[in-house]
Amino acid sequence: MITPAQTQTLLAAIILIAGVATFVWIALALVARIAPRASLAMARANGAAAGSLTLHALRGVLPDAFTYWPGDVLAIASFALLGAAVPGITTRHLAWKPGAGVVVAAALLLLAIPYEGDLRWQARIVNFAGAGLTLTAGFMAWRSLSQNATGRRTPAPLALPLFLIAALMAARGLETFLNPGRTPDMRVPTDFNLAFLWTALVLALLQNATLAFLVLMRLINRIERLLERDPLTDTLNRRAFDQSLDQAHAWLRRGRGYALVMIDMDRFKQLNDTLGHAAGDAALRQMVQELQPCVREVDRFGRLGGEEFCVLLPDTDLAGAALVAERMRMLVDEAPLRWLEQDWPLSASFGIAEGERDDESCAVVLARADAALYRAKHQGRNVVQA
Ligand code: GH3
Ligand code: MG
Ligand code: MG
Repeated sequence: MITPAQTQTLLAAIILIAGVATFVWIALALVARIAPRASLAMARANGAAAGSLTLHALRGVLPDAFTYWPGDVLAIASFALLGAAVPGITTRHLAWKPGAGVVVAAALLLLAIPYEGDLRWQARIVNFAGAGLTLTAGFMAWRSLSQNATGRRTPAPLALPLFLIAALMAARGLETFLNPGRTPDMRVPTDFNLAFLWTALVLALLQNATLAFLVLMRLINRIERLLERDPLTDTLNRRAFDQSLDQAHAWLRRGRGYALVMIDMDRFKQLNDTLGHAAGDAALRQMVQELQPCVREVDRFGRLGGEEFCVLLPDTDLAGAALVAERMRMLVDEAPLRWLEQDWPLSASFGIAEGERDDESCAVVLARADAALYRAKHQGRNVVQA
């Protein structure tokens, strides 16, 4: 026998979870300032859910005008906010307008239908609107996660709770067709309501936990990026580049070769001394921009220090590296630095080397590329040397 106490306790537990989650998300947004906009949307989604369920629990206690329509609108609003928050975290773009449109349309529709009888039309509107909103959000989150928007280690199934919530709400909407005449009050002790409330409780926990995990991953990815990137040019810093180079050299013993293109800007000191340090920085950024089209996804582009860069090309031999370096040389040579209405010619010298099986370490290969670069400078600069 299911008793009203069981359904009421479950309802109270879900309200409690949503209530606590509201404060946790507010703290994340305002105190920790992690993904603040999406976290605030999550706080609002949980707050609206807690509010809506509280009003549901107070049906028959407070006047109907306070509990029915406002509770239903809050419920749809909570799904809309959830639908904005999840893709907001994965894509960094908080699209709240479509959800707001659904809420307003549903609210007006609910105003037009009198709250009388078994309320099944109200239940259909609330549950199908909720299912539609979470389903859409689920697809958006899935797509951005599979495009790796939040970085590594965030698999697409993290969007799954949204689909489960959509299925749960759709099930509740369908139940009004299968059992017409039965009141959609969640507190009525039926098998369906008990199963529904248990599922809702688990999904409330699961959705909040998944979102918290996504936010955490975003933070970790940002920290990792800061740790391995050069702030001026956004290329790999020396430490990250050396790590990649070590890895590539380890692969060399397993038969996968690699080549290095070492790059040094020509007469950079002169540019710095004449136009100033800011112009030097701009020149470095411009050169990196110009070289990007020559860098494949698998290549690693790092700043060794000052105006010296190196590109690691996996599965590439000396001839391949020479082609890349020559293209790079032309690209840098073609575009001067525009500084204070004045053109300053830019060029760079290139030294290339290929990893050989009997090279003891990557430092040997790096030294060979450096020696080639030194020869390029001696030849008068703006050339490639192997
Ligand atoms: P060469 O053609 O032989 O390479 O001459 P160069 O002047 O480019 O070479 P050198 O190594 O003598 O000069 C490098 C200069 O780069 C010295 C330093 O002031 C400047 N430099 C190093 N790091 C930075 C930086 O982050 N920003 C700027 N603007 N300048 C830097
Ligand atoms: Mg130089
Ligand atoms: Mg130099």
